[in-house]
This record gives sequence, C-alpha cells and structure tokens, in this order.
Amino acid sequence: MRLPIDMFKNLRTPFYCYDLPLLRNTLKVINDEIDGFPFIVHYALKANANPVILNEIVKAGMGADLVSGNEVLAALDAGFSASKMAYAGVGKTDWEIEAGIDNDIFCFNVESVPEMEVINEIAARKGKMAGIAIRVNPNIDAHTHRYITTGTTDNKFGVDIPVLDEVVEKAMSLSNIHLRGLHFHIGSQITTLEPFRMLCEKANELIDHYEKLGIHFEMIDVGGGLGVDYENPLENPIAPFKEFFNVFKQCLKLRDGQKVHFELGRSIVAQCGALISRVVYVKENSIKKFVILDAGMTDLIRPALYSAHHKIVNLSSQECGVETYDVVGPICESSDVFSCDEKLPITRRGDFVAILTAGAYGESMASRYNMRYLPHCHFID
Ligand SMILES: *Cc1c(COP(=O)(O)O)cnc(C)c1O
Repeated sequence: MRLPIDMFKNLRTPFYCYDLPLLRNTLKVINDEIDGFPFIVHYALKANANPVILNEIVKAGMGADLVSGNEVLAALDAGFSASKMAYAGVGKTDWEIEAGIDNDIFCFNVESVPEMEVINEIAARKGKMAGIAIRVNPNIDAHTHRYITTGTTDNKFGVDIPVLDEVVEKAMSLSNIHLRGLHFHIGSQITTLEPFRMLCEKANELIDHYEKLGIHFEMIDVGGGLGVDYENPLENPIAPFKEFFNVFKQCLKLRDGQKVHFELGRSIVAQCGALISRVVYVKENSIKKFVILDAGMTDLIRPALYSAHHKIVNLSSQECGVETYDVVGPICESSDVFSCDEKLPITRRGDFVAILTAGAYGESMASRYNMRYLPHCHFID
C-alpha cells in the first residue's frame, strides 16, 4: 500500500485511499493460482462495493457473491455477468428474489426450506427456472471472532447436516428449482488452513453420499473467509492465496465436470485500502494520552464492532521519540476507539495518520451516525 503524504496534504480528511496497482496485483495472483483448475472466484461485494474497485474486479473476470437485492443491481451495473452471480442470505425478500430471477443469476444460495419454496413460487410465476445451491452448515468452528463465525450450529446460517437429505429431496421435487450443488461459508478472517481442510472433508463426504443416491452436483461452493495480515500489512500485502488454493487442489475430491466456486471478499480488497485521517487534538489525563482523530467508528467500525486491530502509522511526524497513546475517534460512544496503548512517534495536532488494511468492511460499513459525512475516497494509480 503506497501512502503518498504529499498528495494527502491538500485533501479533506478523513478519506479512504485505494492503491489500484496493488489491487490489480492481488487479482493477478489469484488468477494465476486458479489457472488450469475448474475453479471460479466470485468477489463478495459486501466487503467493498466502491464502483472503481468493482470495475477492476470485473476486468479481472471474476464473478460476484451477493447478499442483497441492491447488491444484485450494483453488480449488474458494474458489469459482472449474471451467469457468474451467486446470491446468499437468510432473509431474502420477494423483490430481492425477483431481482435475481428477472436477471437470470446463476445461483441462489438457499438457507432454508421456506425460502426455497418462495423462490420456486416466484420462478414458476415468471415461467423460469431458478438455479440454487443449498447452503450447508457444516458445524465447523473457524476459530475467528464470534460475530464472524458462520458455520456452527448455534448460528442462523445454512441448513444442518442431519436434515440435509430432506432439504435436497425437497429441492429435487420443486418444478422451477434447478439444484446445482452445495454451498458452504464457515466464517471470515480465518488465519489457519485447518478449517478449510475440514471443510473439504465434509464436502467430500457429502459429495460421495449424494453420488450414491444418484444425485450429481455440478458445483461445490466453498465460500470465502481467507484472512489477511492486519499486524504487518506492509510486509504481507497479498493474502496467502497459493496455500489457500492448494488446500482445495489437494483435499477436494471432485467428480467429473464438477466445478469449485470461491467467494472471496476481504482477502481481495483489504490491503489495498487505508483510512487517512488527521489528528484533531492530543489530550492527556492522569493515566493516559489520547490521540483524537477526525475519523471515527462511522468511517471504520471494525474495531468497535469486532474488537479488530488495524495497524496505525503517523505519516507526517518528524519526531524520533515514541509515545504510547489510545487512538480514538470523535464519536459520542465509548467504543469509538481504534487502538489502545498504540506506540507512535510523538504525535501532534495536524499530523496525518493512516489506518491500514481498511479496504474491506471499511467504506462499505460506514454510517452517518452523529450526522457525520460519509467518508470520501481517492485512488492511487
Ligand atoms: C461475507 C461473505 C463472503 C466473503 O467473506 P470474506 O471473509 O470477506 O472472504 C463470502 N460468502 C458469503 C456467503 C458471505 O456472506
């Protein structure tokens, strides 16, 4: 991630800065890794739906992973092909399902029988077939933050394996549903490969089981969730895609013609974005020093929502001395803290600060709480 302080000096803060060449490199690494394998990568728009970012990802030939009707429309606007769109979510409403069916998206990732029945009904009314995959809850603990674990039985996502046979049978019986395969997504910011290996084993078992029953899946969607390095982003600007794809190359036992779909969000865009902010005040109380930024949880909510830590750098300080600060935002919430006990060069009012690894779940989760402006954005090319 390049951080050209000279360019920043004339810009109003806070803003997101995106390094487009880094994004292109990341996309190229992914495309090189999947080359020659029956693998299709979908980009999860919820990580970052900035149109400039989407344009780069469309140009790299990726599909889209969507979680709302408006994301379906945004992906179409951005130029993603409907034949490479998958739409997941436990609460798809009728208009959202219609948006998918009207535009002939490849696949709905269905999370319950009631949802499947509604999709069938709407497709029948329109005289269309709806492609679906059944989202399986494989009960695998991804060992990540509990708010971003999605593949264990105590959360709302997917269909439990004990009832999967019934749900598959149901899908086969509905006249306007075309069952394409199974879908998994076990969580996000997964930093070891073991959960993905376990996922392959579960998928292999299920593929075998359904082959024996005479049911052949054209694809298996293994979701996303590959983690990135939030502590050393400048040293590790590209996620470990080689190791990640190797797990699936080695562990998944595919049948003839079967394709594997991936849904990567964070690992594609996280490192190409930084939130740039200025120090408004430095204040001290009897036990702590605070650096108060003009950026807050309304611009980047991950620290407040998931206790996430982003690396913070002071871009403008000329000081040699180091000091320990709590780096906080201006919002009227005690959780509006970017980092506690952060070591920074001695920091003063007016300094420029970059909060790194902010390209995913940053701008896309921004809000106008406290009637603040949404963050704007600039691109380095
Ligand atoms: C959010 C999401 C993804 C992307 O997850 P990342 O951790 O950003 O890779 C993929 N699939 C589904 C169904 C999702 O909800």
